[in-house]
Amino acid sequence: MRRIAFARIAQESNSLSPVPTELPDFERSHYLAGQALLAAVTKGPEVPGFFKRAELGGFIQAVSARKAEIEPVPLLSAWASSGGPLSKECFETLEERLVEQLRASGPVDGMYLCLHGAMGVHGVADPESRLLRRVRGVLGGAPLVVSHDLHANVTQARIDACDALVAYQTNPHRDHAKIGKKAGAIAIGTVLGELRPVMAWRTLPMILGGGNTIDFLRPMRAVFKRMHRAEARGDVLAASTLMVHPWNDDPALGWSTIAVADKDQAAAERLAEELAEMCWERRHQQPPAFPGASEAIAKARAARVRRKLGCVMMADASDVVTAGAPGDSTHLLRALLAEANGLVTYAAVRDPQAIEALWSRAEGEAVELSIGGTLDPQRSAPLPISGTLVSKHERHGFLRTCVLAVEHLRLVITEGPAMVMRPSFYTEVGLSPWKADIVVVKNFFPFLLFFLPYNRKTIFVRTQGTTDFDAAFQLTFDGPMHPRDPVSGWRDRDQKRRAPTAPVADHAA
Ligand SMILES: [Zn+2]
Repeated sequence: MRRIAFARIAQESNSLSPVPTELPDFERSHYLAGQALLAAVTKGPEVPGFFKRAELGGFIQAVSARKAEIEPVPLLSAWASSGGPLSKECFETLEERLVEQLRASGPVDGMYLCLHGAMGVHGVADPESRLLRRVRGVLGGAPLVVSHDLHANVTQARIDACDALVAYQTNPHRDHAKIGKKAGAIAIGTVLGELRPVMAWRTLPMILGGGNTIDFLRPMRAVFKRMHRAEARGDVLAASTLMVHPWNDDPALGWSTIAVADKDQAAAERLAEELAEMCWERRHQQPPAFPGASEAIAKARAARVRRKLGCVMMADASDVVTAGAPGDSTHLLRALLAEANGLVTYAAVRDPQAIEALWSRAEGEAVELSIGGTLDPQRSAPLPISGTLVSKHERHGFLRTCVLAVEHLRLVITEGPAMVMRPSFYTEVGLSPWKADIVVVKNFFPFLLFFLPYNRKTIFVRTQGTTDFDAAFQLTFDGPMHPRDPVSGWRDRDQKRRAPTAPVADHAA
């Protein structure tokens, strides 16, 4: 019987957010260890309210297929909503717990580690490579397989520290379990001596391109199809194209491609190279420009029939909480209040101070207060409102939540991250999307799937915030960056970024 440890530490950081991510953000969202983790990933749900089965559940599926030979060894799983970078203490606590549990679990023959790949930590460069090196320090030469979100930023240090790195192949992401299963199969095959994975990667000085970057639409569809074909034909074990989270302050930021092959380094090199060229060809296809709030409201007003048949969805593209924004922006709210009269509108804002002020008030009471603009006061100002406190709720993840009626607006104020991407965000507090003209979400892609029954028209709205695409242009990069700067080609930077890293053995510090 061989033993394979598994763990997750995952959060996507937006380095422009002034709200740091702390240990309670993980512990309140998803934090499991040992047998409780094994039970959750075996029977499900892996992450209640989000995933019956995600990466670790997929890993367990791969193990079940070889259960006479492999014993899964649960360490820990910690996931927090996208947000600002982790504080150093938070990161080091998680790091210590991971390493301690790996040591305490006795000798293992291999490990699967699920990371986001775009996690930032205040005061620690490339923190996920540091995690890998720490884990490697305990594992020694035993196989280490890693999975990433396709918005991850890859570095040579990460490639050096693991045996195989695989990423999601869907955007919006819907293959979490599949990727965990693929990572598991590679880890199992390697542990049992059936596989010898080799990796190749390429990186491009590019943070935006590929149009809307959806895997099943142009212009990225051909790239994803190429990866699927290479895997289906058995040319490689896994192929990945990583399109980065652009608000990541690693100076060596950029799209990358990875191929993992069984023993055949040349095959891996060929595919990574081909995928990189395909991405570079698509660099000039930028994400679409979004209308401002007034234009968006006018469009929603004009969509009379669509509003009757369902609702108009507005994605607050400047304050996308699932991409790490604070969720306290008042720009769109202010416009909706002033200009969307007569249109029943559901919207959300994160404001722990407002919750504190409202919590002692009775349902049905008239209230007057300022909301929003408290977590990131640089980017939006508090909005004074007067309305009625409709209801109060205690919720998992969103924490204490109040619903206010303010003229035509139904405003959901949350204490925790305002991760508005599923209908349940509103239905759980008594707001049916069937009764709304406009429903606001703070999400880029997944809401399109979740709101399918209600959504009759989608409008992405740009105001001003941490998830504006060009907000990333204020970051510092290790050279010219497409599309901010003219970049003549990708090979020089690729060579530099893939230069061998110094062997590191002393990351216990
Ligand atoms: Zn992602």
